[in-house]
Formats: sequence, C-alpha cells, structure tokens
Amino acid sequence: MFCIAVANQKGGVGKTTSAINLATALAASGHKVLLVDLDPQGNASTGLGINQAQRQRSSYDVLIDSDGVAEAAVATEIPLLDVLPATVDLSGAEIELVELEQRTHRLRRAFQQAKRSWDIVLIDCPPSLGLLTINAMVAADALLVPLQCEFFALEGLSQLLNTVERIRSRFNPALSIIGVALTMFDRRNRLTEQVSTDVRAVLGNVVFDTVIPRNVRLSEAPSHGLPALIYDHKCSGSEAYMALARELIRRLPQLENEAA
Ligand code: ADP
Ligand code: MG
Repeated sequence: MFCIAVANQKGGVGKTTSAINLATALAASGHKVLLVDLDPQGNASTGLGINQAQRQRSSYDVLIDSDGVAEAAVATEIPLLDVLPATVDLSGAEIELVELEQRTHRLRRAFQQAKRSWDIVLIDCPPSLGLLTINAMVAADALLVPLQCEFFALEGLSQLLNTVERIRSRFNPALSIIGVALTMFDRRNRLTEQVSTDVRAVLGNVVFDTVIPRNVRLSEAPSHGLPALIYDHKCSGSEAYMALARELIRRLPQLENEAA
C-alpha cells in the first residue's frame, strides 16, 4: 500500500478536485484505491456521489473512536474505488484530537491494520496545517501538493515545507514529496504562464510536467456526484488529470501486489 496525502493549507487550490480525479484515474488503471476524505466539508465524499445515508461511519470515527478503516470505508459506483467519507463531526476533531493519546498517529495506526486492502490511498486534506493534516502527513508515504497558478502561488509553500520537515524529523523520516501539480492554468492569461515558469525555476523537477487547465467541466462534475473523468472524460480537465495520473504512476515505487 502506498499512501499519498494531497495537501496545501490554502483553500481552493484544487486539492479535492485532484484527489477525486486522480483516485478515479488510478482505479481505472487497475489499482485498488481508497480516497480518505479528511476535510469536514466532505466535498470529496459528495463529489463521488456518497450521500448522507452512506456515511454511517466516517473518517471521524476512525480518528476519534478507533473504528477500523476497512469497516468504515464504502464502495463508490466506480470499480476499484472506495471512500472513507467525512461528516461534519470532523470539524470538532481538530480540537478533540488534542486530548487523545497518540494524537498525531491516529490515522497511521488505523492503516497499520488495513495495509492489505488497497494498493493506493489518497488523503484529501483540509485547508489548514492542524492535527488533521498532520495525521495525514504522519500516515503518508508521500505528499502531492496542488499549487494554483496565481500570483501568490509560492506564498505559503515555505510554511508547508517547514511542516513537512518537522514531520520528517519527529515522526515520519520517509515522508517524500511525490510531486507538485500546477492547477487552474489559463492559457490566455500571461500571468499564469509566468507563474508556472517561476514555480518550475524554484522547485525544479518535483513539479509535474502536466498542468491542469482551468476548465468549467471540472467544477460542474461534483454537483452530479461524479468525477469529471466520468462526467465528461473528453474535456480538457479530464485529459489533463489522466496525463497527471500517468506521470504519478511513473513516480510510484513498485507496489507490493504488483511485484508478487
Ligand atoms: P480545495 O480542495 O483545495 O479547496 P477544490 O478542488 O475544491 O480546492 O477547488 C476549489 C474550487 O475550484 C471548486 O469549486 C472546484 O470545482 C474548482 N476547480 C478546481 N480545479 C479547477 C479547474 N482546474 N478548473 C476550474 N475549476 C476548478
Ligand atoms: Mg477540498
């Protein structure tokens, strides 16, 4: 099992959109995938068509009540793709976790019992660097960072990288950054072109070659409870996420199940 946290403490940079569509593309390529919704807003769960009745157990129960991940996860309509849904309870978890033992390792511990169930786990993080995101970083093998092509794209990144450094030195030395994905790229806007050039100059090869364009189909899809990749697999956004998934797969270590 390889676990990737999709993280950036800025809101609205494309974390959830990337998590949903990459999870779908990875499942389509034959991997057994779990998407963990770790944002109290539950957008990843909703975007995959999981209704409230299907959220009997959630990421909150796994973190706070030590429920098993395999028992709490639900299947989506997409073959090979499961979700650990989020409910609004999760908004209290940030504070409740403070009081609990092993507060930074709750998610990691939960996955130690569920290692064989999935090839790839993607965690959709909330827009903060609080205990939920820290749990994701402690549980993960790698981080995938979506970065919006806007003027302040790099601002806040140093704070994120400092947090990664702290997590490495204290809890999870193996935590890597598997890639930075540029999102909401607008070809007609020269500023976003410039931002993309600057980000590549600063961050180098860790930035994926694939850039996700600004595409209205990507933002429409969640209201239909579908990943864009299924809602409209031919739109520019879907094609970009498929290319990004191929790049991501090339960066993955050989997965245990495949080696066997
Ligand atoms: P985050 O999870 O980082 O807060 P989201 O993935 O929810 O970000 O994206 C924020 C908003 O922008 C959502 O309404 C989403 O549908 C929209 N969006 C995300 N990526 C794109 C894109 N490439 N093109 C157009 N709209 C996008
Ligand atoms: Mg989100």
